[in-house]
Amino acid sequence: MRIPMIVGNWKMNKTADSVESFVNGIRGNLPNAMQLETAICAPALFLEQMVDQARDMPLEVGAENCYFEDNGPFTGETSPYALSKAGVDFVILGHSERRKIFRETDEMINLKVQAVFRNHMRPIICCDETMGQRESNDAVHWVVAQVIEALKGVDEEQARTAIIAYEPSWAIGVGTPASPDQIEEGCYLIRQTVADVYDDEIADEVRVLYGGSVKPANINTIMQKQDVDGVLVGNASLQPESFLELISNDP
Ligand code: PEP
Repeated sequence: MRIPMIVGNWKMNKTADSVESFVNGIRGNLPNAMQLETAICAPALFLEQMVDQARDMPLEVGAENCYFEDNGPFTGETSPYALSKAGVDFVILGHSERRKIFRETDEMINLKVQAVFRNHMRPIICCDETMGQRESNDAVHWVVAQVIEALKGVDEEQARTAIIAYEPSWAIGVGTPASPDQIEEGCYLIRQTVADVYDDEIADEVRVLYGGSVKPANINTIMQKQDVDGVLVGNASLQPESFLELISNDP
């Protein structure tokens, strides 16, 4: 049985003060992690604070990115080894903003996926799809290729703990999510690709999330889809009230 997940992605938002008030705002109101896993992925600057403040709560903490080397002359980068030592559980990799603005390639993302596993954390691998690709019927090929490339060199035991997010960039930050059928199609496609690369048993264990304009008003319909194990949420995860609403709306 796959435990559903709600993961917040704060992107480049918040200060130490607002992190503290967020954590205090959700304290005591999170579900048992065996029923619903909740996580916040925060800017690197606040991760130690988050780990420390969430120590007594069923809240996991993730980074939004990392480098693929553990240490060395890589000015400005974040070490996956240091993230793991700081108590970070997840790292988002391959977000469409990283792919587009920072020109991250499938090859770099694959190296990062391997680095995250090597350091005993779990990647949340994002697969993007543009409206242009959808309109030219190229989206399936694009999503499948991102999954295959990201999982190169990942062994079966690692693969079963991977989290993969279907995040069409045309639905991110716009207020309107993809339709429930489009969401199911994308998540099903990801699971089938994992089955092709590994096998059905592993595909059945991998958690597949949807991301793109999820909010309290639409989360229920999205979470009810068969291949959707959870959601990756940007805007609606920034305030403690709406994060709690997302959780309480979970079926
Ligand atoms: C995201 O960027 O991962 C995301 C899903 O953002 P939003 O929920 O704001 O669309």
